[in-house]
Amino acid sequence: MTNGSASLSPRLDASRSSSVSSFDLAIRNARTRGASDLTDIGITAGRIAAMHSRLGPAARDVDAAGRLVTPSFVDPHLHLDKVYTLRMLDEEALRAYHGAEMAEAHLAIDLAARVKERYHRDWILPNVRTALREAVTFGVTHVRAFADVDRRARLEGVAALLQARTEFAREVTVEVVAFPQEGVVREPGAAALVREAVERGADVVGGIPWIEASPRDAQAHIDAMFQIAVDSDRPISMLVDDAGNPALRTLELLARKTIDAGWEGRVVAHHARAMARYDASYLRDIIALLQAARLAVVTNPHTGPLHVPVRDLMAAGITVCLGQDDISDAYYPYGRHNMLEVAFLASHLFWMTTEHDRERLYDMVTRDAARALGLPPHELRPGGAADLVVLEAPDLLEAFRHHGPPHAVIRQGQLVAAVEG
Ligand SMILES: [Zn+2]
Repeated sequence: MTNGSASLSPRLDASRSSSVSSFDLAIRNARTRGASDLTDIGITAGRIAAMHSRLGPAARDVDAAGRLVTPSFVDPHLHLDKVYTLRMLDEEALRAYHGAEMAEAHLAIDLAARVKERYHRDWILPNVRTALREAVTFGVTHVRAFADVDRRARLEGVAALLQARTEFAREVTVEVVAFPQEGVVREPGAAALVREAVERGADVVGGIPWIEASPRDAQAHIDAMFQIAVDSDRPISMLVDDAGNPALRTLELLARKTIDAGWEGRVVAHHARAMARYDASYLRDIIALLQAARLAVVTNPHTGPLHVPVRDLMAAGITVCLGQDDISDAYYPYGRHNMLEVAFLASHLFWMTTEHDRERLYDMVTRDAARALGLPPHELRPGGAADLVVLEAPDLLEAFRHHGPPHAVIRQGQLVAAVEG
């Protein structure tokens, strides 16, 4: 429609374009982090083409009216095949996962697995769609999504996520992780299913070595998943040491294997809650190892009682970011795929409440989450991808206070969500 009206007045358009560019989309009067003056953001072919005040005409305008504009949200960790399954179960897994300093986390995984007796893509897929619609509403444009792969889940979760990945390709990138939640050694056949999932199009090789019965089995688990990743040239995301036991060592095993395999920068460690119980000297050793392996860490402080030592990791220059983790499943009753809400919760759980802290927390759900996943730089600058949110707030203080949906969400230069009026 806008193109049609433009063609009706070619002389006017020609006179405009003689002095200024024209754009597919322009965000007018945007406030950006750290800048005192408002700016326009001109977008062409999915990329930010220009940023300065009073840009020329565009096919479509969004008036930010002084609202804060930033890169969009990235969710590096979501069990997307399990969303909204809490009501299919009792609350025993919740009790086990959240109680007694996570001493019964292992039991929680066994209790939660009961839902998989009924796994079928036909009921999983509508839940996945709901969670991805919420992602779009809340400005999440990239999700690393885990699907369980084992003898009960088979490839039902993977199939549902692959289908949703195609359906939502315009609004949100879904990276599918083939995740052997029940283990590889203790769950015969799981490794073959992970390989099959990758052959069918899963993007990332998962793992959960700490679930195995012994350090030797944990090493075998890691080795088997690395073999699949190297054979298929895939990145790796593993859940490690997700309990309150400082003797768990699979984060260390994962980092060492990353270096041995030459997979530096392509491996993400998730959860690692046992780090909260490490003594100072072991923590120092592990941080040095994470640096050498260029291992990124995803922490989810709202879904369990313990979390990684975020400040120590940041001080060492390790990429550490936040994930949604769960949405109303056996492990966590809440969640609406709102990474600003996740950052708001983390602000309390880490006691990071100053302006500087909010800047870091916001990076953890935008720039740093993208960096952890090996995505191109996720920054607001000319030449960068036009994956943006116009927040319903002038600054991060107000954004955290309200943590509601953005005013507008732009993905690859297209407006994919906007508040009416
Ligand atoms: Zn998780």
